[in-house]
Amino acid sequence: MNEQRVLRGSGVSPGVACAPAMVIQWRFPDVPDRSVQPEEVDGEISRLRAAIASVVDHLLHLRDRVLQRAGLEESRIFDAQILMAQDEDFLASVEHLIRENNLSAETAFEFKALEIRALWSGTGSLRLRERLTDLSAIQMRVLRVLMGTDEEELAFQVGEQCIVVAHELSPGLTVQLDRDHVVGLISEEGTRTSHAAIVAHSLGIPAVMGAPGALEAIAPGTLVLLDGQSGRIVLDPTPHELDLARTQVTRRHKLELELESVAQQPAVTPDGRVITLMGNVDLPEEIDLALRNGAEGVGLLRTEFLVTGRTELPSEEEQLEYFRRVAHAFAPRPVVIRTFDLGGDKFPAAFDAPQEANPFLGWRSIRVCLDQPDIFRPQIRAILRAAAEYPVHMMLPLITRVEEVHRTHELIAEEAASLRRAGVPAAASVPVGVMVETPAAVIVADRLAKVSRFFSVGSNDLTQYTLVVDRGNARLANRFAPQDPAVVRQLQSILAAGEAEGIEVSVCGEMASEPLLAVLLIGLGYRRLSVAPPALLLLRWIVRKVPFEACRVAAENALLAETSHGVEEALRQGVKPFVDLRLLDLAAPLPGRTSGASLVP
Ligand code: PEP
Ligand code: MG
Repeated sequence: MNEQRVLRGSGVSPGVACAPAMVIQWRFPDVPDRSVQPEEVDGEISRLRAAIASVVDHLLHLRDRVLQRAGLEESRIFDAQILMAQDEDFLASVEHLIRENNLSAETAFEFKALEIRALWSGTGSLRLRERLTDLSAIQMRVLRVLMGTDEEELAFQVGEQCIVVAHELSPGLTVQLDRDHVVGLISEEGTRTSHAAIVAHSLGIPAVMGAPGALEAIAPGTLVLLDGQSGRIVLDPTPHELDLARTQVTRRHKLELELESVAQQPAVTPDGRVITLMGNVDLPEEIDLALRNGAEGVGLLRTEFLVTGRTELPSEEEQLEYFRRVAHAFAPRPVVIRTFDLGGDKFPAAFDAPQEANPFLGWRSIRVCLDQPDIFRPQIRAILRAAAEYPVHMMLPLITRVEEVHRTHELIAEEAASLRRAGVPAAASVPVGVMVETPAAVIVADRLAKVSRFFSVGSNDLTQYTLVVDRGNARLANRFAPQDPAVVRQLQSILAAGEAEGIEVSVCGEMASEPLLAVLLIGLGYRRLSVAPPALLLLRWIVRKVPFEACRVAAENALLAETSHGVEEALRQGVKPFVDLRLLDLAAPLPGRTSGASLVP
């Protein structure tokens, strides 16, 4: 086989897709240095203003479309771009350059945009990445309009089915995609736990990320076959390759039928162990699927979407409305609201966060909330108010010290008192739990368990911080392995610490949605798992197939293994008598098995 036709990346959202490529080139048009005659200067300024107006119109149109298709919060992704495109200071500086140097509108615009880009990139701040992405989007659109090459449109506007190929997919772009037309996604950057991948998984679009060289290798219109499990991409597939893909599809269909047949069945192992399966909800549009797939509540309600891509923080009322909406949908089941996990690259555009050399080891998450009570207090109030009507819980991310929990309890008590004084209906307190997602939290888990009502293991971050592997780094994707013995041992000790205090311990990281790793967790003794809504059926299926006793033995053997491969083997051997491993392999791969992506130097 001609290897040139085969690309590899990480399978991040399961499913096979075959369609022509729609290549989104985030390359900027080549702008020639062009001067104009002094008498043409006014004309250039008018051209600039007209181009900006047309781009803003276009963005407003996109925002409306997304508002109709996805919802208010998602549509706000465009607000930051619209504000940026209309920035008067910036436009005045471009006009000044046109006048002073007799430059064409596109030459001057590009010059100023590059100046800003250099300024922001030079800071090394991840916080500015979001803004750089917005800047790129505007720069590209304005230049295309000015140069008359505005033919390229965003993927979700195409009429035919296609596979979108891009350098990097932001969660913002991914959420806009039209599932009827976009049947698959490929990007050069990204991993299974990047937020765009999580969104693609939630939307059920097969996707391969971390596929270096994809943009160069895939010409627009090329027929592409992608497998969102194995991460394999085949260009211009032969009839034989299409046949193989069809066999895969047939097997998958069989699996789907099996999954459908368990949809209404309880999640109980053949020997009677009851497992509670809950949903992770990142976006409002996931609520329905979680309910349809039988989620027994929400084990992780991420709240960052209320912030990312926006220019300001959401108000107490807006948060309350969202919490009520979710809690109402799942009542009387519980909803675990995770407080803002801001930081890293998740800050509202207008937020004045410091620039840091290592943002993921920096001022983020619970640290931001505790240092800036003006952010935290409205969220606490909204949760207390929702708790007056529904069984909502509060979960604290990135805890590393016991005093962070104590301080949160103080703030909750203060806000409860203030709501009571103001006569606003609100609960006097709310069950507060901790995400165990740092090695520090694991080490002091016995103490944290004394001040927490529950634990939930964030295996994505726990793996990242334990193995010192950036969860978003495609180059390291095959080292990102929650089945690594170093993580598996911690999973065992977290549960022991929680059980010693009699508190509930669950897992809400992506590993819980991997059937083999779910077997490991169940075998270790976890009785509650929370996963992305599409994974709920698969989990119910595996729970009903493999007896608890077999899970327990498999976990025991996994604990004896010295390598992540050994852990995986122990689990495969353990489940083999009960499930067809070929069907199991159709499910999402173990994180870390990236099919050996060849990586960008
Ligand atoms: C985790 O870290 O495992 C987790 C569930 O939280 P997030 O993916 O939002 O960081
Ligand atoms: Mg986390």
